[in-house]
Amino acid sequence: MERIVILGAGESGAGAAVLAKVKGFDTFVSDASIIKPRYKELLDRYGIAWEEGHHTEELILNASEVVKSPGIPEEAPLVVKLRQQGTPIISEIEFAGRYTDAKMICITGSNGKTTTTSLIYHIFKSAGLNVGLAGNIGQSLALQVATEKHDYYVIELSSFQLDGMYDFRANIAVLMNITPDHLDRYNHCMQNYVDAKFRITQNQTPEDAFIYWNDDPIIQRELAKHGLKAQLYPFAAIKEQGAIAYVEDGQMKIEQPIAFNMEQEELALRGTHNLYNSMAASISANIAGIEKENIREALSNFKGVEHRLERVCDVAGVHFINDSKATNVNSCWYALQSMTTKTVLILGGKDKGNDYTEIEQLVREKCSALVYLGLHNEKLHAFFDPMGLPVVEVQSGMKEAVEAAFHLAKKGETVLLSPCCASFDLFKSYEDRGDQFKACVRAL
Ligand code: ADP
Repeated sequence: MERIVILGAGESGAGAAVLAKVKGFDTFVSDASIIKPRYKELLDRYGIAWEEGHHTEELILNASEVVKSPGIPEEAPLVVKLRQQGTPIISEIEFAGRYTDAKMICITGSNGKTTTTSLIYHIFKSAGLNVGLAGNIGQSLALQVATEKHDYYVIELSSFQLDGMYDFRANIAVLMNITPDHLDRYNHCMQNYVDAKFRITQNQTPEDAFIYWNDDPIIQRELAKHGLKAQLYPFAAIKEQGAIAYVEDGQMKIEQPIAFNMEQEELALRGTHNLYNSMAASISANIAGIEKENIREALSNFKGVEHRLERVCDVAGVHFINDSKATNVNSCWYALQSMTTKTVLILGGKDKGNDYTEIEQLVREKCSALVYLGLHNEKLHAFFDPMGLPVVEVQSGMKEAVEAAFHLAKKGETVLLSPCCASFDLFKSYEDRGDQFKACVRAL
């Protein structure tokens, strides 16, 4: 019997284990950390062998194939050993893709993945299609393939997941944008990260679709290199050479494959970045043959996604917005750009090799004060202090940061948590950071 070893028992690992077991493999799960109780229960329910807190090499190096959690880096000693001995290492999505012939709608990019994925899912679901939501959000693809049968899957793919994908084919691939992110995982080489993102187009055929942002300089530069076979659907903010979707006369217009238009005012999601997300989602739905009225209705009643430019409440005339998911500089750029009042920006956290030059101009234009929230704020001091804005540094936690920001903000201004950084220095996750922000704001 072939042996499949799964490294990492989070959502994707536990799902991959269930699928491997159901498909008759000798299945073993190993996690160097403690496995969450709900995943242990799942593994036990299917009679799958597992270990936690360490990796036992003898039980892993004898695998015919390894499914690796996207969180485990290439430099992990066990991964190095597996590579050296030539064991194939794949991602959960690659594994699950082998056992379904559902249509795959896959979304990647540096920013906008979750919003666009959720919006596409919302449109497909509202239109009555039998669709599953997978990837970085929702239940793992593998678990759904093992236990349900959907006709479509809408899948959010990070570059790490794409790294472990070889034969998987996206029927509709969406590439929102490419800006520097996660460079610590790519040898600080931007091209490695760009190549990972373009893997979303590998194996596509002329029957498939590739939807992308036409104005992204990196995507434009790379297009020719990748020998794309899919039909191309570039979108842009304004009507321009090459774009098949754009805004004209206040209407979002899509020319292909079926002409579609909608008043921009009626889109539920606001801001330029969300216009792109709405366009990418509408093109996907259009390609899937969803009726125009269904697309229009779903685009106008979508509720948005938590921690992404999420309005919290107003306190004494100060608006509070939670954009905790802004874990890189580019997403903070879009957040600042969409601000309609002077803004007290809370930023900082675990820096992933950030270059703050990108937001320098917007900080000058839009910000009235800055709060640095993190254990190491030296880089923020060095970059932003010379602008002369009031600055408060907080190392202790969210409560002090919110109080400091509230104190600095004048009536009518906005306090924006859009940190540009990962959250792991002071918080469990960006969700934890956003939840704490909302709780502290409501307690003011
Ligand atoms: P991802 O899943 O790629 O991290 P999200 O949809 O969760 O993307 O949004 C992350 C952050 O990026 C949010 O702060 C949001 O305001 C911003 N954002 C959303 N869509 C876009 C886009 N198309 N381009 C740039 N920034 C975006």
